[in-house]
Amino acid sequence: MQAPTKASELVDEVSKMEWSRSETLALAQQSCSHCYGLGLRPGRGGVSTPCNCVFRAIFRACYARFRQCASKEKYISRVSLEANPGRQRKSVWGMKNEEYIADFCLISRRTLSEYEYTLFKFHYLLGADWKLCSRKMNLDRGTFFHEAYRIEQKLGRIFRELQPYALFPLDEYFNGSGRQPVVATSEFRVKTEQAPMTRKIFKFPVKRAA
Ligand SMILES: [Zn+2]
Repeated sequence: MQAPTKASELVDEVSKMEWSRSETLALAQQSCSHCYGLGLRPGRGGVSTPCNCVFRAIFRACYARFRQCASKEKYISRVSLEANPGRQRKSVWGMKNEEYIADFCLISRRTLSEYEYTLFKFHYLLGADWKLCSRKMNLDRGTFFHEAYRIEQKLGRIFRELQPYALFPLDEYFNGSGRQPVVATSEFRVKTEQAPMTRKIFKFPVKRAA
């Protein structure tokens, strides 16, 4: 049995991705006092690294989409036929919104530490405001926001850098071709010494009555 991948290893694994200036520029916060709206900062060894404001922008875009998907999930489920330009030109039926919700939650769960995930769950998944979270976790306001920023940065990075199927850019996630169904993405595939994964069988995420 394969040992579960630690979040720290995962970040190491994906942090080799190269970011283009045009991408960071488009995402950077214009008023950012660290990158001055450029989205890149000088990093170790003279290599530029994306600014935290870029990661937060990515997280927020993904989170907004998550909320949108989650709010309509009970009523409408968009089943779409996705072209699968793999070997046999087969198409697959996918439930994009459910897939996205599952991926968003799963990636977050696996990336964050236990402590970070508790805050993430209260604030982002259950919608508790900072006052409630601070009381529940015994934090002051400043610490709460500091932690929330760190979580947004950490997740924003992984949402973009995760290989081979990143959550961001969202249009590629939702409309891109060549993606495998959710079971494959949810496996959190990181480069390992293993042989390439074989084809996965697609299953609909059928809800069961409690
Ligand atoms: Zn910045």
